[in-house]
Order: sequence, then structure tokens, then C-alpha cells
Amino acid sequence: MSDDPTIFEQIVAGEIPARIVYETDTVAAFLDANPLAPGHTLVVPKDAYERLGELPDEIAADVWAAVQELTPRIESAVDADASNVGVNNGSAAGQEVPHVHVHIVPRFEGDGGRPIHAVAG
Ligand code: C5P
Repeated sequence: MSDDPTIFEQIVAGEIPARIVYETDTVAAFLDANPLAPGHTLVVPKDAYERLGELPDEIAADVWAAVQELTPRIESAVDADASNVGVNNGSAAGQEVPHVHVHIVPRFEGDGGRPIHAVAG
């Protein structure tokens, strides 16, 4: 595996511009550069782990705490009715960036989007 920093490590380090909306010692969140909806946010561990199963328990807890805290705040900020929250875990599942990231995608009544259980259909 390459030792090159992932694009998300570069964002966390400030080497690539992004709109960071949340940061702790271990976790950062920033707006997706190609949003599926207004407020589409990615929550990442600051250190690069490719897959969910590689995350140490304490980092997984920190990531999930951030997702729980941010999801209602994002919904409120963009006046969304709901959200899809999910991880593309591995390339066959559509993971493009090899650094765990949780998508928070705000949803709006009648927006025509699909639920997560339909994405592979
Ligand atoms: O889950 P997946 O790996 O496919 O998602 C990667 C996400 O990272 C995409 O939604 C893409 O828009 C986002 N991205 C970003 N900023 C970058 C590169 C990718 O927000 N510089």
C-alpha cells in the first residue's frame, strides 16, 4: 500500500482547500466538494484507515459521536427533513478515497433521491 497521504489527510493538514465544519483531535468534517445535496458533509478520522474494520475502537467512537452531533445540526442548517448517513466501505461498494469517511447527505421531502437500500439496485 502507498505511504502517500490520502486526499483527506491533505485536507485535514490544510494542504488542499475544503470547508471544514468540525474538528477535534481525532476527527474532522468538511463539506463534500461534489455535493449530492446542500450540506453534504464527510466525517473522517484524521488518521488514514482505509476500511471501517481497521478503525481502533476509540477512533470509531469519536467518528460516530461526530456523526451523531453533526447530523441534526446540518439538517437544521440547510432546513432538511432527513438525512442519509452511510459509508462506501471498499471499492466494490463505490469507495473512491481510501480513507474512511461517513457521508451525511441531507434529504428533503419530495427530492426524488433514493434510500440507501436502493443504491445497489
Ligand atoms: O465514498 P466515496 O469514496 O465514493 O466518496 C468520496 C467523496 O469524496 C466524494 O463524494 C467526493 O466528492 C469527495 N471528495 C471531496 N473532496 C475531494 C475529493 C473527493 O469532497 N478533494
